[in-house]
Amino acid sequence: MVVYWHRRDLRGVDNRGLARAVTVDDEPIVPVFVLDSTILEHASPVRVVCLLEALEALRAWYRERDADLLVVRGESSAAIPRIAADYEAETVVWSEGYSGLAAERDRAVTAALEDEGVDCEAVHDAIHHEPGSITPNEGDHYAVFSYFWKKWRDREKRDPVAAPTADDLATVSGERLPSPTELGFDEPKAERTGNSDRGATLELPTVTPDAARDRLESFCANDIYLYEDERDVPATDTTSRLSVHLKWGTIGVREVYAATERARDRAETDEQRASVAAFQRQLAWREFYAHVLAFNPETVTENFSGYENEIPWRNDPDELAAWKAGETGYPIVDAGMRQLLAEGWMHNRVRMLVAAFLTKDLLIDWREGYDWFRRKLADHDTANDVGGWQWAASTGTDAQPYFRVFNPTKQGREYDPDAEYIREYVPELADATVDEIHGWQDLDPADREHAAPAYPAPIVDHADRRERAIEAFERARGTS
Ligand code: FAD
Repeated sequence: MVVYWHRRDLRGVDNRGLARAVTVDDEPIVPVFVLDSTILEHASPVRVVCLLEALEALRAWYRERDADLLVVRGESSAAIPRIAADYEAETVVWSEGYSGLAAERDRAVTAALEDEGVDCEAVHDAIHHEPGSITPNEGDHYAVFSYFWKKWRDREKRDPVAAPTADDLATVSGERLPSPTELGFDEPKAERTGNSDRGATLELPTVTPDAARDRLESFCANDIYLYEDERDVPATDTTSRLSVHLKWGTIGVREVYAATERARDRAETDEQRASVAAFQRQLAWREFYAHVLAFNPETVTENFSGYENEIPWRNDPDELAAWKAGETGYPIVDAGMRQLLAEGWMHNRVRMLVAAFLTKDLLIDWREGYDWFRRKLADHDTANDVGGWQWAASTGTDAQPYFRVFNPTKQGREYDPDAEYIREYVPELADATVDEIHGWQDLDPADREHAAPAYPAPIVDHADRRERAIEAFERARGTS
């Protein structure tokens, strides 16, 4: 037998690791997933629900082929050698992970398997071009995305790989999956904020390969051609929403890329072709951050780019709580934070705005924001999340310069001109006019009371806070 260890590749189709398991020893495959105790310590209720849903779908896929997915609990370094011994496997195959935590776990598993004389093989599956394969003249990885993108774009991409057939799989049968509660997690609940009904139910995405494929097909049929123009406008919902599937591996990157290439072939205008390229560029951002994290695992907690002095982050529990609840009195920021609570997802432009608001207007450490996103996002991906936060905090690779502080009012007006997105997530503002919403900061208290009595006044003055943030960063740079 060959053991195939699923991790963040919860699918049978277009899975390079699984395809390798078919050929490595020419033996039937025993697929296994470990509910790893150390990894679970870092999980959240939202993510555990997504994981169990994806595992259930993967198990159904195996069962349709008269096989099964074994799901076991414990430390991977004990569980994987045990399964290998139980099934007398000579080889264990898996797909590479790129975070420090994944690397640590894999080292422990490799050492334990080697002690038992079992071979192991890790295959690159989650990204097109593995860390170390796209490099500048000096150094392990690019720190500027535009250079990385040019090379990434021009590199040949692999085709999707075939799924194993029933004949490739061992006849095993697993036990039922535990519930979130049995794993020590509360069922994630909606968190109602303000007097909003939004958030009364939590609407997490469906994390299955079927849902992923539907999403990919519908996106590539239409929205991919609007992507370049509309990707920054949250109300249009024109982005792919594939992040949750790329995170859990309910779709393969080769399948995604091939679908975008077919969309490019069908395109009728240069604008449509450019829009497909704009989308592929975002796929490359994901790989850029995977490379950065693989070579800098410490950046999960440390700044990528140091400053001469410490950045004087503030400890302000009340402001942090208002940000988390979506009650800052800045409508676009609050809409984003409530979308996060309601859906476990937030639009990219708004992620940038709320992250800037936390790290600049509130001058609160990006790690607080990262921690909140890590708990609430269904698509939390260490590399992208850290990359996004450090970008916003002006501490990352290719980061937003510290003196370019987003103005949440102007950004709201520009990217949600009709306040459609804001009204959807902040119903207290449903009856306010567009001018009142976008001018909320400048309204006097009586006008605010009249327009939306339940919605808070801005908790800070953006102009003052912008100045304070720039001064703080200049002190950190040693230039003031
Ligand atoms: P689309 O616009 O359709 O993009 C397609 C895919 O490209 C995405 O699914 C994603 O895999 C990738 N992608 C797009 N934008 C980025 C980006 N800026 N950086 C890296 N990859 C990108 N993305 C995550 O997948 N997980 C996270 O935990 C995460 N945290 C973030 C935190 C902050 C503070 C910021 C600013 C961004 C974060 N992002 C994260 C990146 C981005 O916001 C999401 O990938 C995107 O909103 C997902 O929606 P989509 O699938 O519709 O994206």
